[in-house]
Amino acid sequence: MGLLLKDAMIITQNSGKDLIKGDILIEKDTISQVGTNIPVTGHKVYQLDGLVVTPGFVQSHVHLCQTLFRNLSDDLELLEWLKQNIWPLEMSHDEESLRASARLGLTEMLLNGTTCILDMGNARHQEVIFQEMAASGIRGASGMVMMDTGEQSYQQETDQLLASTRALINEWHNSHNGCIKYALAPRFVLSCSPKLWSEVKKLSDEFELIIHSHCSENKTEWQEIKRLTGYSNLEYFVRNQLASPRLCLAHCIWVSAKEIQMMADYHINVLHCPGANLKLGSGIAPTPEFLKKGINVSLGSDGAACNNNLDIFNEMRLAALIQKPKSGVTSLSAGEVFDMATIGGAKSLGMSDEIGSIEPGKKADLVVLDLNKVHSIPADDIYAQIVYSVRANSVQHVMVDGKWVVYERKVQNYSEKQVIDDAWKQIQLLFAREKSLSEISKEV
Ligand SMILES: [Zn+2]
Repeated sequence: MGLLLKDAMIITQNSGKDLIKGDILIEKDTISQVGTNIPVTGHKVYQLDGLVVTPGFVQSHVHLCQTLFRNLSDDLELLEWLKQNIWPLEMSHDEESLRASARLGLTEMLLNGTTCILDMGNARHQEVIFQEMAASGIRGASGMVMMDTGEQSYQQETDQLLASTRALINEWHNSHNGCIKYALAPRFVLSCSPKLWSEVKKLSDEFELIIHSHCSENKTEWQEIKRLTGYSNLEYFVRNQLASPRLCLAHCIWVSAKEIQMMADYHINVLHCPGANLKLGSGIAPTPEFLKKGINVSLGSDGAACNNNLDIFNEMRLAALIQKPKSGVTSLSAGEVFDMATIGGAKSLGMSDEIGSIEPGKKADLVVLDLNKVHSIPADDIYAQIVYSVRANSVQHVMVDGKWVVYERKVQNYSEKQVIDDAWKQIQLLFAREKSLSEISKEV
């Protein structure tokens, strides 16, 4: 039996950017019709008069393993923040703390209408992240984070890392009706050896996997890469044959005109994280320039440890506002920002044939919004309304792959209370483990 969503205002995000007052017919996991007065023939009908349906939001750069570190390490520079606090905490995860962290992040994101994510994964127990993505009902890609050089204490052995990655690809890539995908996750140039990059490239070619990494988030990072390799960050990717439409780079703040041209020439995807960039004082990515050059830009909230939320509405609003003092008030439109959060995200993940818009043949990933709230009316332009005034509490229902994962503001596959209780419990246990680990390393 198909599902028929009736009488909604539909933001299609199709090539004509059509807004339709009408119906959406969903059969199994796929949208089969979009139009007016689709006849009811044995379908389950959802009356959505007065509500708005948008394509599901895509967050193309998140760290589920860091959700448990929310509000724990604030007001530090990127490299200091990573070395002092984030890496030790990530390495201290056991299966249950990682599970609690992933559940907390997934629950938060589903409730704000995020239907697809690109996650950076964790160095240990990566299978737990895949298990929880599958259990939550979200769509997305993740991969074990790779670090085999740089900070001694967090290095993994290269061959072992590659063997584990290959095993995880075989087990998880394209599983769960294609909802779960593997994305290779070399952390950034400073933490990966040339050998690792070359093996990552081979794996990407062999399995047609996207490569998810960080790039030029911070000026010190950029300078350090130049000092160590002799190349700018983007040049390093190009020289190592990693630059391609399958390369997804978070941040890209410190980029020269020459590097921007390289990003355009090689169709590299930018994963823009304005909230985290402001919080870590990293800088402002030149997204209007990227768009002018035809570079695809998508949005992510990064980790809860540096944001401190995983809210796509926050990121849309910040992506728009952050440019205004720097590049001018008209430099980026609300419609362009809405594209980043929907079809732009789909393109980053190489999935624009499957998701990112509401059209026949696409997967049924969508969000039902109630915009008739005191904080978001009245309105004229619906994109400006969503980007500038709508908050996550307007999200009523969320569907992924033809199934409701949030209905009447309740997550369907988890108990929200249990998620909260587990998070509080697991962070205490993790603290105790991290403390004893750092005491042991001091004694050595
Ligand atoms: Zn990140």
